[in-house]
Amino acid sequence: MQLNTVLFSVMTVTTTPQTLDELDSPLLSAVHRASGHVGPDGPVGRWEGIDGNEDWADEIRRLKKARNAVILAHNYELPEIQDIADHTGDSLALSRIAAETDADVIVFCGVHFMAETAKILSPDKTVLIPDAEAGCSLADSLTETELAEWKAEHPDALVVSYINTTAAVKGLTDVCCTSSNAVDVVAGLPADKEILFGPDQFLGAHVRRQTGRDNIHVWAGECHVHAGISGPELARRAEENPDADLFIHPECGCANSAIYLAGEGVIDPERVHMLSTGEMLTSAKTASDAGRGKVLVATEVGMLHQLRGVAPDVDFAPVNERASCPYMKMITPAALLRCLALGADEVDVAPDVAEKARQAVERMIAVGNPGGGE
Ligand code: SF4
Repeated sequence: MQLNTVLFSVMTVTTTPQTLDELDSPLLSAVHRASGHVGPDGPVGRWEGIDGNEDWADEIRRLKKARNAVILAHNYELPEIQDIADHTGDSLALSRIAAETDADVIVFCGVHFMAETAKILSPDKTVLIPDAEAGCSLADSLTETELAEWKAEHPDALVVSYINTTAAVKGLTDVCCTSSNAVDVVAGLPADKEILFGPDQFLGAHVRRQTGRDNIHVWAGECHVHAGISGPELARRAEENPDADLFIHPECGCANSAIYLAGEGVIDPERVHMLSTGEMLTSAKTASDAGRGKVLVATEVGMLHQLRGVAPDVDFAPVNERASCPYMKMITPAALLRCLALGADEVDVAPDVAEKARQAVERMIAVGNPGGGE
């Protein structure tokens, strides 16, 4: 059975024609495309019609085995998607697992640039994403054309791009970075070289401050979810919870404020931890071992499911409970069922683009501790 794909014009991603045979599933007839969810740029479509219950989980496991597939889920996915996945983690950790797996098919439950990164590192594997329209407002805030024009204005500059970028942008990049190693990556480049840093302005500001370099040009991009976690909100929540630690992702709009407030003595600097999502999990265990009671978390709310799993005795609370990524939440139980049954949506990256992008990613992995990015 082939379901019609209704494309909503929110993202600029494209899929390749599927190469896998379709498999029958008794649940497939219930899957339909629904609209009405609101993204930053307008309505967002979503595959719906199936609950993430035990019947669904059994069918996912049956289809996965039939395809010899591995399911990878990002930390921001819905809890039922995280729970059915073979591996859950941040984008780079999942891409590395993808590169090492014996599975024939990689099902990447995340957003499109993450599935592209898995394909870049595993060019011989079939990579599927349950909904190719699951884009990323941060990745979309710097296009290939914009980066090419920016480079033309600064022909001698080196380009450092955060991992949240499209394959085409990575292909124009000298070295990628994650939030964990962005400072090390930039600090390791020749001091007299201009740097073009993109697309995230908050991470760029963090890097500029930490390195003390004044020859970094920062692209004014942002993630609408992380930017929505504001400094005033963080200050209010920190004041309400004077004993809580703060886990803050450097992409957050509140990241600069947290450093400022700590510097001003408004928040005890010991309470502020700037962490990638992977580092948050490690720090959650440390907080548990140290008997910490409460942690305020400034990142996408899906992260709380993982944190509560590794440290159930700690009270994790969001700085902003509305910080939910509509694109991550497009990977629904129905979307995953459709993906495994139909062998869609397949992700491909042109070999010449993939080769250049792979070099930028591998240079990143060679520098410092890349952690896992988002
Ligand atoms: S939370 Fe922001 S950066 Fe992450 S995938 Fe969603 S839009 Fe992109």
